[in-house]
Amino acid sequence: MSLQHASLSDAKRLIIKVGSALLVDENTGKLRRAWLEALADDIAHLRERGVEVIVVSSGAIALGRRLLGLDHRTISLADKQAAAATGQISLSQVWQEALGRNGLTMAQVLVTLEDMEGRRRYLNARGTLNALLARGAVPLINENDTVATEEIRFGDNDRLGAKVAHMISADTLVLLSDIDGLYTADPRKNPDATLIPEVRELTSEIFDMAGVAPTMYSSGGMVTKLQAAEIAMKAGCRMFIARGTIYHPLKAQLEGAPNTVFLPSESPLAARRHWIATSLKASGAIIVDAGAAKALHAGKNLLAAGITAVDGRFKHGDAVRVLDVEGNQIARGITSYGAEETRLLMGHASGDIEATLGFTRGNAVIHSDDLVISDQ
Ligand code: GLU
Repeated sequence: MSLQHASLSDAKRLIIKVGSALLVDENTGKLRRAWLEALADDIAHLRERGVEVIVVSSGAIALGRRLLGLDHRTISLADKQAAAATGQISLSQVWQEALGRNGLTMAQVLVTLEDMEGRRRYLNARGTLNALLARGAVPLINENDTVATEEIRFGDNDRLGAKVAHMISADTLVLLSDIDGLYTADPRKNPDATLIPEVRELTSEIFDMAGVAPTMYSSGGMVTKLQAAEIAMKAGCRMFIARGTIYHPLKAQLEGAPNTVFLPSESPLAARRHWIATSLKASGAIIVDAGAAKALHAGKNLLAAGITAVDGRFKHGDAVRVLDVEGNQIARGITSYGAEETRLLMGHASGDIEATLGFTRGNAVIHSDDLVISDQ
């Protein structure tokens, strides 16, 4: 990453998080349609530049509340979930219209935090999002509030955006906010507060600057944004906090508008490999021939043809060790096929996977992005 101030212009896989307060007018409960259309134009512009864009949008509850005639000051969890069920339809529709004006296809993806933690669902969600991006669609993500078992907290989508960034190895996350970035103190109360352009480490001083989260739906405040930064930085994703209240907020960013950028020390791929190498417990082993071992060292996928044996019990999405025929560990990785499935596939060409299993999760038993070569 260059030393000059980071900008959105070099993002390749970009997640944009939009809060309720930007989309929905707090006083009337109505959608800010012209603002949304301007943002959708910005997204179309980024897509034209070849950037993959994913949107994490709040607003289901804020829109649904008005439709159900609920007062937000007294709203219970069940009512919030009812409001989300109602409002999510409007939310999707307005986004679809705004992106559709620009010839873009939107795809709705509702996730729960459990989806992000259970590895098999996580792998599936990642596969779906990657497929959508490969086909040129714009995924619109929100939490599936109607089935969420935890209290729904505003600001959760800041963290959701960062978790999605981790899941799909995004390089950039932008939290559009009602403020330019992180200030040394709350600038609404303290005129001497100054904007911090760049953060490389989340120290306790930085957390002290965030203050306390406001209670209304308008914003999760800085606290949840810093929690999101923590998740994003660990995933090797840089995160921007930028003003979203203006029209064309992303265009403004490309033209040099102020922001705070949180810079990770590793790339998304390096961070992902670090995570695979250190955080996942291996449940079994896959033994490979010399040809496959060579291919892995050359950065290739692990294919079924080079597998000679399978040891232990594991399911797809589990971490496994990859051993050579002498039993030396050559890699660790997340397998796309379970132990039984791999036994059926071993020695076969990748083209036979579907005929053998009746389905396929792709040609690779372990994709190179999910493999970490062990030190010899
Ligand atoms: N998922 C909630 C909604 O769409 C909002 C959560 C948040 O703003 O962080 O209404």
